[in-house]
Amino acid sequence: RISYVNGRYVRHAEAAVHIEDRGYQFADGVYEVCEVARGFIVDMKGHLDRLDRSLRELAMDWPLGRKALEVIIREVVARNRVRDGLVYLQVTRGVAPRDFLFPKDTAPSLVVTARKVDPAVGAKRAGTGIKVITVPENRWDRVDVKTVGLLPNVLAKQAARDAGAQEAWFVDTDGMVKEGGSSNAWIVTKDGRLVTRPADHGILRGITRTTLFEVAAKLGLAIEERGFTVAEAKDAREAFISSATTIAMPVVEIDGHVIANGHPGSVVLSLREAFFDVAEKSQA
Ligand code: PLP
Repeated sequence: RISYVNGRYVRHAEAAVHIEDRGYQFADGVYEVCEVARGFIVDMKGHLDRLDRSLRELAMDWPLGRKALEVIIREVVARNRVRDGLVYLQVTRGVAPRDFLFPKDTAPSLVVTARKVDPAVGAKRAGTGIKVITVPENRWDRVDVKTVGLLPNVLAKQAARDAGAQEAWFVDTDGMVKEGGSSNAWIVTKDGRLVTRPADHGILRGITRTTLFEVAAKLGLAIEERGFTVAEAKDAREAFISSATTIAMPVVEIDGHVIANGHPGSVVLSLREAFFDVAEKSQA
């Protein structure tokens, strides 16, 4: 494997940043994960638009021009011969002697990695669906910014794993579902309408979520952008999650409660099926 680190393509095993990188010391950095499918980088424009927003929200500079970053992303994908898989990119405020205040004249650090993922794995999982648990929201109130400060997400997803589940949904004090540890949360109502929480500061505006709005429109499905409770989700016709790595993934159990008949729903499977055609067309 080959990775990109601050201007150089290096062997992945030897790729390294300095111990005083602010990403390492303060989680002072942002990232993106893009899906690669059928050889194209899914929603690259959306991911780079969101990166731009994350950087601006944290008063960080682009490490280089957007066009140059696009070239690097494509190059890392090509050098690793990824047809189906992931690209990870991370920008931090750079290397400086440890101090809370922003360093002056420090160049941001940029890392880009890519790896293959067998699409059969996700397809198989979508055939059975996943289980989620719910956990109290304990993150800061700017989770709309995609920072590498992911410790609450790590703990929540590990708790899910320990409970035999694959994702954890953060729930606020009113019992409203916010989002997953690394995904957005959706339900389908009894009358077939899609429901997902508005993308305010309380959740990350998923790029996959946005594309699924287009997919839903194409399939003639109505979307209600509103909050929903854990109780409503347990009683829903379907539940699912979305992210660049899972696309649309059926949820068949919430906190041990079986959703509908316990099998992946037809609406989420139709969204999943139609997703790449819509994504491929909208990037063209
Ligand atoms: N919410 C959180 C907290 C995430 O970490 C992610 C992705 O990793 C998402 C939502 C989904 O976003 P996207 O569809 O852009 O992958």
